[in-house]
Amino acid sequence: MFDVDLFVIGAGSGGVRAARIAAGYGAKVMVAEEFRVGGTCVIRGCVPKKLLVYASRFADEFADAEGYGWSMPQARFDWSKLVAAKEKEISRLSAIYRSHLEAAGVTLVESRAVLEDAHSVRILSEGRIVTARVILIATGATPFLAPDVPGLEHAITSNEIFDLLELPRRILIVGGGYIAVEFASLLARLGSQVTLAMRSENILREFDEDLRISLRDALAQAGVAFKFTNLPTKIEKSPQGLNVALTNGDSIAADEVMVATGRHPNTRGLGLEDLGVALDALGAIKVDQYSRSSVPSIYAVGDVTNRLALTPVAVGEGHAFADTVFGDKKRAIDHKNVATAVFSTPELGTVGLTEAAARAQYSCVDIFATRFRPLKAALSGRKEAVLMKIVVDGETDRVLGVHVLGEGAAEMAQLLGIAVKLGAKKADFDATVAVHPTSAEELVTLRSRTARYEQMKLDPGEAAALPDEERMP
Ligand code: NDP
Repeated sequence: MFDVDLFVIGAGSGGVRAARIAAGYGAKVMVAEEFRVGGTCVIRGCVPKKLLVYASRFADEFADAEGYGWSMPQARFDWSKLVAAKEKEISRLSAIYRSHLEAAGVTLVESRAVLEDAHSVRILSEGRIVTARVILIATGATPFLAPDVPGLEHAITSNEIFDLLELPRRILIVGGGYIAVEFASLLARLGSQVTLAMRSENILREFDEDLRISLRDALAQAGVAFKFTNLPTKIEKSPQGLNVALTNGDSIAADEVMVATGRHPNTRGLGLEDLGVALDALGAIKVDQYSRSSVPSIYAVGDVTNRLALTPVAVGEGHAFADTVFGDKKRAIDHKNVATAVFSTPELGTVGLTEAAARAQYSCVDIFATRFRPLKAALSGRKEAVLMKIVVDGETDRVLGVHVLGEGAAEMAQLLGIAVKLGAKKADFDATVAVHPTSAEELVTLRSRTARYEQMKLDPGEAAALPDEERMP
């Protein structure tokens, strides 16, 4: 007999969902959390970030208002007021997570917990060992800081940025991914002087090229300075703050350096290796489609498995795990065509294949793209372009990907995700009546093809005879 049916390590998005659903099926569940209930997304990720994004966009609204007849007094921004309001809201959300667990009959233990063996967990604060039929690891990921240069200890990560006592007057952000871009965009609007340094030639490597270029230009217009193919070589304290030497020999003075060079699975010190739980090179727990690890009683969901590091994916994986193991409903999450957004200003919303990925995988790809000035900019005078691109399989007319840069792009991506998931054709978009006047209506009124890319088609015998470099990817 075990003490509990399920022991979950980590009360973040994935762990909490799994615990609640499993308890709903009648399982006796215990959850351990070493930090704050809610996990990265609620405490120092998606939710507080979005609150900061909202705060930052008032800068644009104030600037735009005049064109619409408003006279604005000089606006003033108070960082500490925002941080306090943000803290109040995330504390409220964390309490809601806690009460949901309680209502579901889940026991919460506020302590670090580590694996003792394949069926038992040690609760470190009490030294107590709890046995469990099934153990779920949902410990998320932690910031990975690169490059490893002298003075890196002076840098902060997204863990600390939310609670700085002051808005940095000058900040150097290292990285060109989601976190770097979102914070560059919002901090520049709140009044920081932002420099973004990265190893690549542009931001957001995995995203559609045209949108990457347009977003880069929009951020530059908002005041972000870029240092491409450039990384810190040394960070030193100076009387005025920090001094950062860069690869190209430049030196930058900053009050804060924030490193956002990815996040790695949080598996260290859990005792996984000793039990023979297979990990990949980054330390991610290797799991099958039902989130089961190489040790049959141990499962893992969310960022700790490094499949698709997004909150709703972790929630979906946690739910599917509970359905499969405790609800007698075997279910796996489909990681294809997951819509996602970058909450920069302008926003970037996307689902499915980029133009480049589609061209690498399909022999005929049609592109329908448009760039236009949104109606709101007509009176505000803001230099702003909305960019939309639909990527279509030229042979079947199926929509392979949709990419939007502009206001509301994240909201659009959510709904576009349904269409793409259903296998919508371009003809279905065309047959949909527009909502007017909106920006999104352009997605159903894009009649003319912008480009068609065709590649030579070979039968399998001919393809096999080609040298590797001439084969279609
Ligand atoms: P990302 O993976 O988005 O970006 C990492 C950045 O760091 C890239 O620019 C990458 O460069 C760079 N990098 C990686 N390794 C090195 C290195 N060794 N030296 C120098 N540069 C390096 O990670 P983030 O930290 O921005 O975010 C972590 C995760 O959190 C994301 O993957 C995402 O899943 C999630 N997230 C999602 C958000 C959302 O949904 N809106 C918001 C924030 C985070 P290169 O491009 O050259 O590889």
